[in-house]
Amino acid sequence: MWLLPIIEVCALTAPGPLNSTAGSLFVVATPIGNLDDISARALKVLREAKLIAAEDTRHSLRLLQHFGITTPLAACHEHNEREEGSRFITRLLAGDDVALISDAGTPLISDPGYHLVRQARAAGINVVPVPGACALIAALSAAGLPSDRFIFEGFLPAKAVGRRARLELLKEEPRTLIFYEAPHRILECLQDMELVFGGERLALLARELTKTFETLKGLPLAQLREFVESDSNQQRGECVVLVAGWTAPESEDAVGSEAMRVLDLLLKEMPLKRAAALAAEITGVRKNVLYQVALDKQKGE
Ligand code: SAM
Repeated sequence: MWLLPIIEVCALTAPGPLNSTAGSLFVVATPIGNLDDISARALKVLREAKLIAAEDTRHSLRLLQHFGITTPLAACHEHNEREEGSRFITRLLAGDDVALISDAGTPLISDPGYHLVRQARAAGINVVPVPGACALIAALSAAGLPSDRFIFEGFLPAKAVGRRARLELLKEEPRTLIFYEAPHRILECLQDMELVFGGERLALLARELTKTFETLKGLPLAQLREFVESDSNQQRGECVVLVAGWTAPESEDAVGSEAMRVLDLLLKEMPLKRAAALAAEITGVRKNVLYQVALDKQKGE
């Protein structure tokens, strides 16, 4: 127990030099539904480790039994991780390899493990990722939303006031937004997203990934909210919500001078809607963009 405060202090500084006699801490991803998603390397590491630190030992026991793995398990969850971390560190320092797993997917991703990994690195222990399933990455890989830059926001606050305040902060975020959400809050969450981001913003609900009732539904927020509202099955199971990043409204500058000249000429001769439609046909610029520019112009005059 005396080890813990020292490790906590060390953790505030840079990781210590690697301890060559210590074992390694393997951070092992497990499936998020489909057991076939476990990697051959994950199975080997889990089989060969001296101890497996698991978020819920009873839950993980079923996974290990399925694969015939008999490595002993010890609990490492959000309530004991800080205090019990020293137990795992002691084993690691004694030369034993330890594998860290969570109930599903990649440990530390909205799951316990951060304090243990931090303590291990501060103690100079080799920390090795064994990658695999992760719900946010699986959802993003199939969403068809820009994936070159994205932000993961984890779970939104459970209460509406906090949730809306967080969404307000993200309103003009240009990167694709990714959220985890509990099924009993998915409808409220989509309602608030529609309220804050607007019903037109494209979003995707990725539900029950890798499982029998896997559903990926991409729609503008208003329609996605309607889809979930009208079918209670969509309010069950595990889900990830992705929302397209904010794009600045197209301005006169983006339309180009030639299209503006055509639009200006037509606006002198006919109503706004007709002028925008005709200008779109002549210039190839999208009709709703020209319509918006014409409206803005009118308001400014
Ligand atoms: N560590 C996990 C990972 O790597 O994705 C996430 C754990 S977090 C406690 C659980 C949340 O992840 C769920 O509430 C859900 O938002 C998301 N999730 C996990 N499995 C999922 C699945 N099969 N389909 C959709 N979302 C899933």
